[in-house]
Amino acid sequence: MNKIEFINPWNEEVFGEITESSVDDVKDAVKLGRTAFNHWKDTSVKYRIDYLKKIRKYIVKNLDNLIEGISKDTGKVFTDTLASEIYPTLDMIKYYEKNLERILKTKKVKTPIFLKGKDSHIEYRPMGLIAVISPWNYPFQLSVIPIISALAGGNCVVFKGSSVTPYVSKLIEEIFNAVLLPEGVFQVLYGSKDIGDELINQKPDKIFFTGSVNTGKKIMEKAAKDLIPVDLELGGKDPMIVFKDANIPRAVQGALWGAFTNYGQVCMSVERLYVEESIYEEFLSNLIFEFDKLSYGSDYYDDIGTMTSKKQIKTINRHIKDALEKGATAITGRKIQDESEYRINPTILNNVNHNMLVMREETFGPVLPVMKFSTEEEAVKLANDSPYGLNSSIWTRDLSKARRVARQLVTGGCCINDVIINVANPNLPFGGTKNSGIGRYHAEEGIYTFCHKVSVISDNGVKNNSINWYPYNKKTFERLKKIIRLLYK
Ligand code: NAD
Repeated sequence: MNKIEFINPWNEEVFGEITESSVDDVKDAVKLGRTAFNHWKDTSVKYRIDYLKKIRKYIVKNLDNLIEGISKDTGKVFTDTLASEIYPTLDMIKYYEKNLERILKTKKVKTPIFLKGKDSHIEYRPMGLIAVISPWNYPFQLSVIPIISALAGGNCVVFKGSSVTPYVSKLIEEIFNAVLLPEGVFQVLYGSKDIGDELINQKPDKIFFTGSVNTGKKIMEKAAKDLIPVDLELGGKDPMIVFKDANIPRAVQGALWGAFTNYGQVCMSVERLYVEESIYEEFLSNLIFEFDKLSYGSDYYDDIGTMTSKKQIKTINRHIKDALEKGATAITGRKIQDESEYRINPTILNNVNHNMLVMREETFGPVLPVMKFSTEEEAVKLANDSPYGLNSSIWTRDLSKARRVARQLVTGGCCINDVIINVANPNLPFGGTKNSGIGRYHAEEGIYTFCHKVSVISDNGVKNNSINWYPYNKKTFERLKKIIRLLYK
């Protein structure tokens, strides 16, 4: 049996291991999950909310252990783990505790006069066995949020996290074991892409996937053969547009955090920074000045940590090399102390253009390319000149200009005078456009995406016939025509 090691990216220490799941494990998990669904689907919303509460309380009770474990497996600085992994997860759980009954309550809707005497309503029914497959960059929140959303909707879940962060998957398994969910309602598989692929071979009732565009396309292609619905939360190349009337110190801090938080391994990282020509030099020198102050390391006061997956370094170096060869200049600021295959010097790139890979493909590392624009139209054109469309940000004191520009950006979300943070509001749906994905979760959509919305119409059944039924005759035809003329003239 293969083992997957737990590796701390800071010092490459192996701090444990877990047995990889086998093909039979995958089949057994799906079978057990389907059996468990027969019972779980009929549990009351209140009953499932009780489990959400238990999960939240367990996370809070074990906060220190979780922060340490997630940070050790990913190389995140502690503040990133707390603020970007644990906090949004807890907030989402709390949101569903408060809102689940309302979201899942059968909704009465209007019935048109033509169908007089009948009642119409929408019911929300769980889909069945959901496959949740997640990546390594936020292995906790990007797994736990879809898992709890699917479970809360009355589904059972088989979860496969990334083999790069197997210890986080183990921590998640411990949380769900601790709250004593009925057997088979939630199960974890360990392994890399072959196990994910096998999970899809088992034809789950829905696939919720977060990861790269390439994998997302493969999954969708495979799912299409059996018409399995998919949600795809994929990569990004988010633009940040800074107008000359922006609060410059705030925009500088926003750019630095947006580009370098989690070492740039964020699907919604600022990967393209566009600054209006007349403030460009001033902005860049402020940016470099503040960039130099950032502290690199793994302590509480450190700002920038390390890569989680060393494989990604190759892509980052390829993008930097390509940019430099095509005329960009690199500002690396303070050098990182402890060289490692898991780290490169965080870098700002000046003199970039859209012929460079760093402005076209997802870099997913601590690199911030900066480019000038001269008009609002040009800023919109540059921002939209990308196959991606996850998030964006606009920086200006003129809020009507900000909204006007926001409306023209083809992205799933947008922040005005802020960055990334829309993902942290559980009341807002989350997802991408273009190559950044299909589907939405969080907020009400986070439950509905795991439900069949069933349209029900009911008649009291007293009359023996209906106007639109047989037998057809001239009299009925004329009556219907009269009603239509009356209603729609
Ligand atoms: P990845 O696509 O390599 O892997 C994601 C998951 O899919 C892993 O668990 C992996 O084992 C599994 N997998 C890989 N091939 C598979 C296959 N053929 N069938 C089934 N499962 C398979 O992505 P990654 O490198 O782990 O994560 C980084 C990517 O995720 C980046 O592109 C990033 O932008 C994206 N991401 C998107 C969001 C979002 O919400 N839009 C959030 C975080 C990360």
